[in-house]
Formats: sequence, C-alpha cells, structure tokens
Amino acid sequence: MQILIVEDDRGISSFLEKGLRAEGYSPVLASNGEEAHAALDIAEPGIELVLLDLGLPSGDGEEVLKKMRQDSHTMPVIILTARAEVADKVKVLNAGANDYVTKPFSFEELLARIRAASRTAGQPSASEIVVRDLRLDLLSKVAWRAGQRIDLAPREWALLELFMRHPTQVLSRTQILSRVWDYSFDTGSNVVDVYVGYLRRKLNNPGLSTMLVTVRGAGYRFIDESEVESPDPGRG
Ligand code: CA
Repeated sequence: MQILIVEDDRGISSFLEKGLRAEGYSPVLASNGEEAHAALDIAEPGIELVLLDLGLPSGDGEEVLKKMRQDSHTMPVIILTARAEVADKVKVLNAGANDYVTKPFSFEELLARIRAASRTAGQPSASEIVVRDLRLDLLSKVAWRAGQRIDLAPREWALLELFMRHPTQVLSRTQILSRVWDYSFDTGSNVVDVYVGYLRRKLNNPGLSTMLVTVRGAGYRFIDESEVESPDPGRG
C-alpha cells in the first residue's frame, strides 16, 4: 500500500519512510504542496493514504488538503503536526482530514491510526485483496492460500501486494525495483528474481495452480491470463 508523506522536515520524513517500509508499506515522499499534488497525479499503482504536515514551506498543509479534496482525491488523510490547539484540529478535520496526530508522536500509535483510517475508508479492497484462492489481509498483514496461513517478510509482502494489485499485467524487473525497492534504475542485481523465488516457494504448493509466471524477456506476471475467471480482480 502506497502512503504519501508530505513533510518538509527531512529527519521526520526519513524516520517515517524507514519505519513504514519496515512495516511493508510503500512510502512516497513530498516536501511541499507541489510535490504532493504531483505524486497524487502520477503515482502508480496509486496513493492510498496521505500523512500531511501542516507547516510546509510553500503554503499551509491545509491548502494542500483542500486542493486534494477539490481534485477528488478521496483517500484518507492523517494530519501530522506540532499544532495542538483544538481550533487547529477542528479546522483541518472540517477541511476533509480523517485524523490528526500531534508531534512528537509515537510510531506505534501512528501505525494504529493508519490501519484504522484504511479500515474506515469504506472500500472492501482497503482491507483485503483476493486473487483466486490467495487472500491478502491488509490489516493483519497475513496471506492465506487455500486456507493455509503464509508468513511473509516485509519485502515479500510488498512484492506480493504489488503483483496482486496487477494480477494479469506483466511487471518488468525495473518496475518492480522502483516500486518495491525504490530504485529508479535497473541496478543489474538479481534481487527481484531472488524474491520472486522466495514467494514461489511459499505460494506454489503441490496441487495448487502456479502463481508468478516468468514471461521471457519481459518480467513476471502473477497469474496466467488464460486462467483468469474474472477481469481485474485485484484492484478497486
Ligand atoms: Ca513542517
């Protein structure tokens, strides 16, 4: 799940980035309103939650929030700010924020609020993704295949979530590197192949259909198109 962090304090944004990544989220960073709007417009597979600082260099976070809502970006927004006055909170909640956390904050509490905000986002797809007999529980971070629980390391989780959101699309190594490992170029490392191997071992048990098909010269596809029962089951 991609989370946009709008924060001009680099200490805080890198702390959040590392922490969220360790939890299996895919953080995207913006240090001002312009970068935030650009990220919301271009990011693929799409920002699903925003952490928004109020004191930004080029204009207030509240303006960023208002413009987001005007542009029909409906994902949950959690305000992260040092301003603790009731009047400030009321103002941004009225402007369309879903929650409000005051700095300094506990990372555990922030994680709980992120989970709560995604839960109340009102879409069934916000809490789980199902492709065939594989179910990804986005809240408890557990995968289930044919009733069997599958434990995943954070990177494996991020990789599997990416595939499940694009189940019939061929994803190239470069696309996967940029989305799961945050590399903007192909480093020539075989890390993607190694992790696809880990996932295959965990997912493809005897008697079950094969997931993570190699498409020669192109990359990987989660499931074979010819075997899909319904179009685009993962994204919503
Ligand atoms: Ca700030």
